[in-house]
Amino acid sequence: MKTKEKKLVLDGWMAVVWSSMWRLLLLCGCMEILLVAIMRPPEGYTYVGYLRTFLLVPLLVQTVVVLILRLLVTKLYKQAENRWVMLLSLLLVNVFVGSIAAVYTSVSLIPVMLVLPVVMISAYKKQWLIRVQIALTVGCYIIDRLVFLPRVVYRLKTTALVDIIVFLTLMLAFAAIEEQVRKSSLQQDIQIWKDSLTNLYNHEAFYEELEFRMKNFEENHEVFSIMIADIDNFKKVNDTYGHAYGDEVIRMIAQIMEQNKGSKGFVARYGGEEFAMIFPKKAIQEAVLAADNIRREFASRTLESKDGPKSFTISIGVAEYDHTYRTASAFFEEADQALYKAKATGKNKVCCNTK
Ligand code: GH3
Ligand code: MG
Ligand code: MG
Repeated sequence: MKTKEKKLVLDGWMAVVWSSMWRLLLLCGCMEILLVAIMRPPEGYTYVGYLRTFLLVPLLVQTVVVLILRLLVTKLYKQAENRWVMLLSLLLVNVFVGSIAAVYTSVSLIPVMLVLPVVMISAYKKQWLIRVQIALTVGCYIIDRLVFLPRVVYRLKTTALVDIIVFLTLMLAFAAIEEQVRKSSLQQDIQIWKDSLTNLYNHEAFYEELEFRMKNFEENHEVFSIMIADIDNFKKVNDTYGHAYGDEVIRMIAQIMEQNKGSKGFVARYGGEEFAMIFPKKAIQEAVLAADNIRREFASRTLESKDGPKSFTISIGVAEYDHTYRTASAFFEEADQALYKAKATGKNKVCCNTK
């Protein structure tokens, strides 16, 4: 599960980075042609000479740079940690956009393009990445303004028309990248594993993780247990207080489970009002204790209703894995039977398999 998720996130991220680079390159090239067609080339340059220096050569160099970067990163990112790959690709985007700003010097507004990576970062909603990006952008902008631009001899004269062209190009670039981020399956890729009501992992994700744990057990003999939980008399809750109220109850138990899962635990919304949890490194006794903590906390909470504060209960079945289970669903069945026992013997309790 974790490896699969990692791969999806990285693939999505890389797709956005690469295709943004190409689009940006294309837009800059078009703008450069448009500018020199409308304005006259700077002193000392013919049209051909200008286009060769400011369009063809940079385009060629940057294409080669992008291809090399791509090769490098594709090889690297298969092994690297998620956050390092993101940081690396972030740096690459900055180097790339920075080099565009440095090469296409026709217009002094070009450094504004340095904010482009920020647009992409916002799609990720990761605070630390945004902070790194802002620092990089400000740094690049200052260097460009103070060190690079004053040394440039050949520049088109800035007029209102030039400003308008640059402004429109920038808007186009922003729109292209934003649209791409939206269209890319980036968000959905992450979401396919998640349940939208609770933001917990879903049924499919649970089985992925369960199979990963089973494999880990075979290879490293690492014990683990699972629990399956079902809210008691939930139909009545819905019937009495409505579906929206029922949803609130579901969110409440989801939050309690999330808080109690521990750093290595895994919790999923298995079905409507059923939840499943994996306790890595926990044998049955420990898992039962953890499950009982959740049960007690849920029973002690209340939710305001039209009849005043209401409390709810949950029944839980727990099972510890061993090599006799052939499949994930055979093992799951064991926990499910324990849950059935909890329901049949009075609810609001934790039962476990007796193997
Ligand atoms: P038991 O104690 O035996 O579990 O009784 P129960 O009434 O909870 O029975 P059961 O588990 O079969 O009922 C599940 C109910 O949960 C039926 C369905 O209307 C409700 N439910 C399923 N998904 C959702 C959901 O997303 N939101 C809400 N509000 N209700 C849901
Ligand atoms: Mg149920
Ligand atoms: Mg139920």
